[in-house]
Amino acid sequence: MPLTRRHLLQSAAAAGLAPLMPRRLVAETTIGSGRLITVSDGNLVLPGDFIFAGMPEADLSDILAAQGIDRQRLTPECNVTLWQDGEQTVLFDVGAGSTFMDSAGELLGNLEAAGVSPEQVTVVVFTHAHPDHIWGLLDDFDDLVFPEARYLMGRAEWDYWWDPETAETIGTERQAFAVGARRRMEVIEDRIERFEDGAEILPGLAAILTPGHTPGHMAFELRQGNEATLIVGDAIGNDHVAFARPGWEANSDQDPELAARTRVALMDRLAQEQMPVIGFHLSEGGMGHVERTGDAYRYVPL
Ligand SMILES: [Zn+2]
Repeated sequence: MPLTRRHLLQSAAAAGLAPLMPRRLVAETTIGSGRLITVSDGNLVLPGDFIFAGMPEADLSDILAAQGIDRQRLTPECNVTLWQDGEQTVLFDVGAGSTFMDSAGELLGNLEAAGVSPEQVTVVVFTHAHPDHIWGLLDDFDDLVFPEARYLMGRAEWDYWWDPETAETIGTERQAFAVGARRRMEVIEDRIERFEDGAEILPGLAAILTPGHTPGHMAFELRQGNEATLIVGDAIGNDHVAFARPGWEANSDQDPELAARTRVALMDRLAQEQMPVIGFHLSEGGMGHVERTGDAYRYVPL
């Protein structure tokens, strides 16, 4: 078995140097006759300004205080969604891998704990190509972690990160994102299947273009019988300001204005239809409901 960060972290944990651990490693529900779970990839450690820079501080401070969120330092969970329906084992994003952040890259160990081996994964679908979602594509030897899988990505997202110009135009803050995405995409170039907004990419799984966080970000509506869940990736990127002030522009979005419009529309629909949501960085495993409270919304974990 190739060396993974997980093995190193297990040694670190054994030596009493355990990294920050998420609260839940796996959250589980069902949809139709299938199994729908989230598997933790660990968490990120970010300066608050990564999201909050430019937001009205007084109002922000009240919102964060109400939820006990540190303005200066954020540790969002990373929750990878997995859907098994008997024929397919579908993974939505592949986590950060071993080289992005010490606190992330935990997916493989937690998948194993959920009874899923990397070889069992038949389909990998990407919401977008940021490091915490795609860098886990390769192991420390640059081999595919999920060797048997088909790989699917929205066409606009693929085209954006594939373009060599992107590394020049994206800005210094995110330049490593562009280089890192392209390097991994080169490994799957021959097998990638690109899809459009609205495509039914698997039976009962429809793609929804949700741009702004990245230019071609995709959410997915999973519908089995009369049950449905919306897998929103980072189109709803946290469970504090994104819910309390969905219309505020967030520094973590590449096109903040467009992302805010996308987020408001998603919130409205999720609350209206009372449809369960799965968000990559939402807390307590990332599964929950969106509840409307006056002009704002509230995240209710499953
Ligand atoms: Zn993310």
